[in-house]
Amino acid sequence: MQFSSRRKKFTTNSQTELYSHPLLFYVQPPLENISLMEFETFAVERLKLLKTIENLGVSYVKVSDQYIKKLEAESKALNFLYRPEADDRKPQSGPTEQEKRRKDHISHFILRLAYCQTEDLRRWFIQQEVDLFRYRFNALYPKQKLEFLHRNNLQYDTISVEEKKALHDKLVNSSYAVSGITVEDQDFYKVPFQDALDLVRSRKVYLKAGYVYIPHQEIVTIVLNDFRTRLSKALALTARSLPAVHSDERLQPLLNHLSHAYVGQDYSIQKNVGKISLEQIDSLSGKSFPLCMRQVHQSLRENHHLRHGGRMQYGLFLKGIGLSLEQALQFWRSEFIKGKVDADKFDKAYAYSVRHMFGKEGKRTDYTPYSCMKVILSNAPSQGDHHGCPFRHSDPELLKQKLQVYKVSPSGIIQILELVKGMHYQLACQKYFELTHNVEEASFSLNHPNQYFIESQKVLGGGRDIKRETDAPQKPQENSTKAPIAAPEAAANTQDVAEMTEELDSFFQDA
Ligand code: SF4
Repeated sequence: MQFSSRRKKFTTNSQTELYSHPLLFYVQPPLENISLMEFETFAVERLKLLKTIENLGVSYVKVSDQYIKKLEAESKALNFLYRPEADDRKPQSGPTEQEKRRKDHISHFILRLAYCQTEDLRRWFIQQEVDLFRYRFNALYPKQKLEFLHRNNLQYDTISVEEKKALHDKLVNSSYAVSGITVEDQDFYKVPFQDALDLVRSRKVYLKAGYVYIPHQEIVTIVLNDFRTRLSKALALTARSLPAVHSDERLQPLLNHLSHAYVGQDYSIQKNVGKISLEQIDSLSGKSFPLCMRQVHQSLRENHHLRHGGRMQYGLFLKGIGLSLEQALQFWRSEFIKGKVDADKFDKAYAYSVRHMFGKEGKRTDYTPYSCMKVILSNAPSQGDHHGCPFRHSDPELLKQKLQVYKVSPSGIIQILELVKGMHYQLACQKYFELTHNVEEASFSLNHPNQYFIESQKVLGGGRDIKRETDAPQKPQENSTKAPIAAPEAAANTQDVAEMTEELDSFFQDA
């Protein structure tokens, strides 16, 4: 793998020079060759780190000790930088500081490629990267901070000694953590107030005639603004080069997979095949289905039909929770024939696609239930559709009404809507889980509708709700005669999943 497009421009900087400081501003793209395996491992691990950052940002104050400790622990576990060490002595185990810096550099640029594709992806990526950058900048020693500013030409204007003297009292009274003694000893930066809105909002700085006077220790705010602006522009530029990247058949599926990535269990492996009876689905949908599946189930029951997006999302989810092929055929047939589709039409137009979903037609591949990222980020529902994620795709007022119907308390609804407003859709869903299952803090980080179901079953009695179907004769199950298809290796999986999903989509199109 080669990051070669701007190679000529940057050949003057050697890798050693580039990684001589613990913090990068990600100005230069990586120039070396790396293997596809490394490409994917680095990207997935950074994604895990960014997801942790998102979760922590909602649960803790971003500069609090707890936040820093947890982020430090996760960074350490994933072999990312977590302490700005000054030297590069070979540790007893694990990668050196240089190796961690290299991984940080490369993984950032890979995720740029994956997360520049849509406005939603860009916004999410920038937010998490900014939080990561804040944590790392704050962890630098003062000398390293200055060094970082100089290396990156971040030379903000400081005020003169005379101006400092003239404003002495105002600076002391208005600046957070500045005393009369320290004013003389430190630099104050004069920047347009719109570049330091956080500081203005929290009344931490002196504001005069459209400018704020920022003491040196608060400089992180303007560095972050700069970082955010540059990253936003860089993502827009990267998006323009996407057609070239997409023409690379090795990269395109990897990047698509990463942008919809969910880094957890593979729910295509069915552990409970046949352990759910069709009669249980209504009750399970109220107790253990996440909102996305609950709403799609309700609409299927009401309209006796679901359009393509709904059938894909819900069909794979049901398969993931344990419906066998025979049950799935029976389920869809019995519901559709209550509407405008007769049995004959169902068998001709829909049965094939259900069998296909179970790997019994076409390429005979097993299909993976959709992760939250996939539901949230791809194929947004339009008029008449019922799929999607209600936390992402429903109007807030409509979501509020739904939550009221589902008996979520008014204070719970406020908390959920706050999370939705901050675009933390999975965390909003997790809050919904906590409120509807009466648990104070969920012990998992939600990534997948099938994970929601399993966790719900655990809380509601260790899966006791799922019983073997006894009232209907069990037909032999095609799946049960074979071992379930093992989770493929991640690298191979990406391409397969992209191809499979595309192929399956075409089978599910409405005639
Ligand atoms: S966050 Fe995930 S599980 Fe929850 S409603 Fe949205 S897609 Fe479904």
